[in-house]
Amino acid sequence: KPFISFGARRHLQPIIAKEGVERTYIMVKPDGVQRGLIGEIISRFERKGFALKGLKLFQCPTDLAEEHYVELKEKPFFPKLVKYIVSGPVVCMAWEGPGVVASARKLIGSTNPLTAEPGTIRGDLAIAVGRNVVHGSDSPDNGEREIGIFIFQTLWFKEGELVEWEQNNAPWLLE
Ligand code: ADP
Repeated sequence: KPFISFGARRHLQPIIAKEGVERTYIMVKPDGVQRGLIGEIISRFERKGFALKGLKLFQCPTDLAEEHYVELKEKPFFPKLVKYIVSGPVVCMAWEGPGVVASARKLIGSTNPLTAEPGTIRGDLAIAVGRNVVHGSDSPDNGEREIGIFIFQTLWFKEGELVEWEQNNAPWLLE
């Protein structure tokens, strides 16, 4: 007998993206967690109107941090970056909505918090590039790579960790 009833299973979102749905992986980095900014950061995306489909507090192992930032492997700051990401718990999130990848990048602000625009998360809440409190996928493909299955592997979420639900305020957010 399956541990989970069929009724409950229907509410789990497949880890593979639905056609035409855009998702981004947002993460409160260890400094954001330690500084008590989890609620503040979640709130920015929540108030914007995007839909939260996955959320967990998680201690990232070194190999996952290395895989997540594999495109930066040759950068001189790579070892420091990996150490930073595994230095404490992170908050992993999957957010969904039209144009969510680019919009989340705008809400987050540029990589260096000192040049990030006021009003953005980094512009308002951080000062150092190596302590910039939040991550957001830089393309829809990377959103899927980071949330879901990409070339037969998963990064931050496993099958069964995303929830399928509809925001009941959708008619007030989407035309
Ligand atoms: P972003 O997070 O804005 O997409 P990148 O993908 O270029 O930026 O870099 C990933 C992360 O690596 C940054 O968020 C930051 O934490 C760290 N990082 C980037 N550049 C530097 C740097 N010059 N020195 C230290 N850390 C850096």
